[in-house]
Amino acid sequence: MSIRKKTVLDCRTCATMGWVTHRSQRDSTLTLAERFRIDEGNEIGVRARGYFAGGTLVEDLGIGPALVRTRAIIADGQIDTIFEAAFEAGEFVARVDVLRRTADGWHVIEVKSSLDPKDEHVDDLAYSVAVATASGLNVVQASLMLLSRDFRNGQSDSELFALHDRSAEVRTRQAALQNDFGRIAEQVLGETQPAPELTVACKGCDYFPDCLGADVTTPIFRIPRLTGKKLETLLRDGILELSDIPVDFVLTAPQARFVEVMRTGKAHFDVEDAQAFLAEISWPAHYLDFETATTCVPLYDGLAPHEQFVTQYSLHVCDSLGNIIHHREHLAEHSCDGRRELIERLIDDLGERGSIVVYSHFEKTMLGKLSLTFPEYAPAVGAIVDRLFDLEPLFKNFLTHPRFGGRTSIKAILPVLTTLSYDGLEVADGSHAMAAFAMLAKGRLLESESGELRNALLKYCCQDTLAMVRLHEAVHRIASGELPMPE
Ligand code: SF4
Repeated sequence: MSIRKKTVLDCRTCATMGWVTHRSQRDSTLTLAERFRIDEGNEIGVRARGYFAGGTLVEDLGIGPALVRTRAIIADGQIDTIFEAAFEAGEFVARVDVLRRTADGWHVIEVKSSLDPKDEHVDDLAYSVAVATASGLNVVQASLMLLSRDFRNGQSDSELFALHDRSAEVRTRQAALQNDFGRIAEQVLGETQPAPELTVACKGCDYFPDCLGADVTTPIFRIPRLTGKKLETLLRDGILELSDIPVDFVLTAPQARFVEVMRTGKAHFDVEDAQAFLAEISWPAHYLDFETATTCVPLYDGLAPHEQFVTQYSLHVCDSLGNIIHHREHLAEHSCDGRRELIERLIDDLGERGSIVVYSHFEKTMLGKLSLTFPEYAPAVGAIVDRLFDLEPLFKNFLTHPRFGGRTSIKAILPVLTTLSYDGLEVADGSHAMAAFAMLAKGRLLESESGELRNALLKYCCQDTLAMVRLHEAVHRIASGELPMPE
């Protein structure tokens, strides 16, 4: 089996990772969020081809026929732009998004759906150049083609992209990669899995649970906001299990509290501080949650690529602790720009009195965006922002439970403190909600699927605000001694 880009880049991070990646089968059961990401990438690929008039596409024929076809097009000399050109150097293969003939040689271009160039993009580009060069192509220039921050809905595709010349960096990395090809091939193709090494890369590694994390109860990666330097120090000393951290190792107060909670298995609860914090909420309390969407190519006027916009909200209103007097919700029409209707209804639904309880800064950020989009509503939105009360600091500062596992998200906390959870919901997380709305708006789902999916979106957002109501209630009752702290 040929060695592909992802395997090589993984192997450069960790030999074990590369070895496992080379043998991994692509999971054919994609989630809606994964399908959406792939569709978005494909759309950008197609639009990028439109940027270069008269290019020829090497169809997805499988690597063998694609190599033959690429060689034929290059030899022909009549075609100056090739899409998905295929190259092979020993065991290594690469497909180049865009290849352009210049007066001196070839310009390799990799298309990414990001706004900013990232280090990994340059590695990606360097790999394509390394394989193409090793196969005999004279590469004289290497660029990333990214989305332009200045693009707005309605402009032509030629304004959607921005080319970033990275030839100098790529030259250095490509040489290093080519020098490393021998070692990589030996490690990746070897019968024996290379011995895993504990490094910072383990923290974000998908294989961690089956690799070095297999026998670890609570990895140190769970410690909230641990600096890279401290993480490196612990890993250098071979410390991966949280309970192995030396008692004199310097941590911040919240980190030390978390470590203590995990070591003892007992919750930490600053009752008085939590009560004082919650006493700031004024009634009627409005528990508010937004869902948003974002697409590579903006859907509506004024939006930039990847700019988030609010698609729906849920609002539970309580006149006293846990006593819901009504629930309001709104999900924008997916077939048109529903932002104006959404902000008008939201202003109406929130009234003028009582705290607006949210979870995180997200709602404040999105309200700011709505205010910029519809300046005529800026005073009303400003009044809403003044009433916001963020519930999350309760779990960042005053209540830490071992079963939260170092997380403060509603999804981590809810099943510990209440009988509610997100289990069984068709849409059960924000990325799924985002993908569902965007897929509907882009017409990528059947209209017959839309009714059920829209209901699932409403249920999910409703669960978020109901969760806030019940969490507020649970913490209040635990603090007052009406309820015991869950085990
Ligand atoms: S967990 Fe660490 S050693 Fe294992 S594959 Fe991932 S990065 Fe490599």
